[in-house]
Amino acid sequence: MNNIFNKKIAIVGGGPGGLTLARILQMRHATVTVYERDVHKDARAQGATLDLHYESGLKALEVAGLMDAFKANFRPGADNMRICDKDANIIQEYANADAGPVKGYRPEIDRGPLKKILLESLHPDTVVWNSQLVSLTPINDSWQLNFKDGTTAFADIVIAADGANSRIRPYITPVKPFYAGITMVEGTVYDSAKNSPQIHQLLNNGKLFILGEDKSLIVSSKGDGSLVFYTGCKTSEDWVKTSGIDFSDKLQVLAWFKATFPGWHNIWHELFENAAAPFIPRPQYCMPLDQTWEALPNLTMIGDAAHLMPPYAGEGVNMAMLDALELGLCLTDEIYTDTRSAIAAYEISMRTRAAATAELTIESTNALHAPDALSYLLQTVS
Ligand SMILES: Cc1cc2nc3c(=O)[nH]c(=O)nc-3n(C[C@H](O)[C@H](O)[C@H](O)COP(=O)(O)OP(=O)(O)OC[C@H]3O[C@@H](n4cnc5c(N)ncnc54)[C@H](O)[C@@H]3O)c2cc1C
Repeated sequence: MNNIFNKKIAIVGGGPGGLTLARILQMRHATVTVYERDVHKDARAQGATLDLHYESGLKALEVAGLMDAFKANFRPGADNMRICDKDANIIQEYANADAGPVKGYRPEIDRGPLKKILLESLHPDTVVWNSQLVSLTPINDSWQLNFKDGTTAFADIVIAADGANSRIRPYITPVKPFYAGITMVEGTVYDSAKNSPQIHQLLNNGKLFILGEDKSLIVSSKGDGSLVFYTGCKTSEDWVKTSGIDFSDKLQVLAWFKATFPGWHNIWHELFENAAAPFIPRPQYCMPLDQTWEALPNLTMIGDAAHLMPPYAGEGVNMAMLDALELGLCLTDEIYTDTRSAIAAYEISMRTRAAATAELTIESTNALHAPDALSYLLQTVS
């Protein structure tokens, strides 16, 4: 028996992974605090809509007892997808319309409502906002957590759920992510019906995938009436610096789009002309598929901190939530005699699963930025 119930658990990062883990642990009577760097719960605009998968994200919500809350907050029809060519012709249309919950069911929910559901499921004051972790100090078998504002906290077990640039990951392994060859540029158009009417109509409250000439443009509607879009191009790793583009200048970003996507229909310019600056450039990284390390007795990681990968297979949030479920169950399972065995069991399963998903993701990232990207996507989704 690993005596988890006498221990203080700190989760660093209140994203979908960290909050799901806190919920699962609290349901199983563990003592848990989440330290989140955002100053309060509404501090950050949340990105695009997420499709949750039956076998991972939805499974975690089911075990967390949150399916009713999910059903009250998801966006029926938002999983409708149109695949277009660069001339804005609709090549194929998919309307999945809420067939679930069965295998293959992938309903969409915006990040904001997902976060709200998870936060409301936790005991009051579980999340300590404005807590940006900068380092850990080992103290006997425990950890002192050191925050940017000079405050500290103590925990017997620390779980890194602090995303892509995890401050905790280096305490577990020196393995670093590799550049996946693609840089995205993200933009948001608020009130898209008014500010981007042609794209709004084409979008039809769902998603658009526009592929051609080794490049991608993905547009996603959101429940608040805005839309989010991402370009994807093959670039060098340091392109964000070497391009010289000021991403807070709409005209510069529009000029870059016209030069880089020559011959693409003018309709797409509407996105750049009406987006709220700044745009966010996002070089895409992936953890090595064969990464491994020795399990520690009091420190582990979940989600992007453990297995960052590009978003082209739509697995990141789903994997983070499944990690949370599996780690929560392992830590509170009496079959493990100590926490190191519980953490080791979780990590072995997580690495195997993440490696398989990362392999598929890299394949799909490359295929969506290849000359025959359209036919690849048509085959994949049919
Ligand atoms: C452009 C883009 C589109 C995507 N689209 C999809 C998609 O369609 N479907 C999908 O499944 N996935 C998608 N993803 C991936 C998905 O966003 C991530 O995989 C997922 O959010 C990982 O969850 P997480 O909880 O591990 O980390 P995060 O969501 O990154 O959360 C980490 C949290 O930790 C906090 N934090 C960070 N550092 C510290 C610190 N030092 N101290 C305290 N707190 C800290 C952050 O503020 C944040 O709240 C996309 C990613 C990007 C970039």
